[in-house]
Amino acid sequence: MTPSAETLELYRCDNCQWRYAPTDSPCPHCGAPKRTPFEASALGRVAAATELVNPSEGWPAPHRLALVELSESVRLLAIMDERLPAVGSVVSVRKDGEIYRARTEPAPPPAPVGRGEGESPRAGASDPSFEPPR
Ligand SMILES: [Zn+2]
Repeated sequence: MTPSAETLELYRCDNCQWRYAPTDSPCPHCGAPKRTPFEASALGRVAAATELVNPSEGWPAPHRLALVELSESVRLLAIMDERLPAVGSVVSVRKDGEIYRARTEPAPPPAPVGRGEGESPRAGASDPSFEPPR
C-alpha cells in the first residue's frame, strides 16, 4: 500500500500486538524484533504542545512541537508547521525524512442547531423567573 496524505505507516508487534511509530529498535513494549507495518489514519489529537524560543542550532525559531496521539493509541512527537495548536485539537501528521510534521486540520463545519438562521429571537423565554400574567 502506498502511503498517502491521510495515512501513516506504523508498526504492530508480531508478539504482543503493541503498535508503535516505525523504528529500527525492537518493540518498545516486549522487546520482540518482529513486527508488521500497517497503514493507519494520519489524524491525531494534540496531547501536549510547546514552543522553543531558543532551539538547537539548525532549527528555525520559534520551534513548535506537539505530542500527538493517533487513533491507534500511538504517540509521537511532531514539528508543527504553523501556530501552536491547542491541546485536544485535531492535526494531521506526515513523515518528512526522519521526522514527523503536523498541521492543524480545518475544523469540521458546525452541526446545524435547531432551524439554523443564527440566534433565536426568543432566547431568554425560558427564564425561570418569568410568570405569565393572570
Ligand atoms: Zn511487543
